[in-house]
Amino acid sequence: MRNVRIVRPTPEDLARVDPDDTLHQRDADACCDVRKVVPLDRALRRYPVSITGRKRFQASTRAALDLFEQDGERLKVNPLAHWNAQDLKAYMDVHALPRHPLVAKGFRSIGCRPCTTAVKDGEDDRAGRWRGTEKVECGIHFGADGRILRVAS
Ligand code: SF4
Repeated sequence: MRNVRIVRPTPEDLARVDPDDTLHQRDADACCDVRKVVPLDRALRRYPVSITGRKRFQASTRAALDLFEQDGERLKVNPLAHWNAQDLKAYMDVHALPRHPLVAKGFRSIGCRPCTTAVKDGEDDRAGRWRGTEKVECGIHFGADGRILRVAS
């Protein structure tokens, strides 16, 4: 991979919103907003299109994922939406891609450490994210109205 960029919240935003680094315990939505949603939005502003790796099989909340979504002024493309776990495995095998070491320990979806647990057989891949809460997405794939982005049909 070339031209990989690491996007972070600004120190000013963190000092203002989460000065003691405990926001994830008090308000996970606000924590995801300052650490993920705002920095990504800032980074994508100059691009007309973004591409994600989301797949329908990952969670019931992604089962109706479209290949294309309107994300405000930007188009969002989900080229792997129809891939399943077997497709992923086959692709990784063919291209000799390494597995993330946590996958072998049951972490089939890997997020921030305080908010991610291993999943059991039969659970959605994303069941370990924010376990025990109603939260299922960090917010980078929500529209301004708070709903998961969809192309209007
Ligand atoms: S996943 Fe947890 S720690 Fe990470 S940004 Fe969201 S609330 Fe904060």
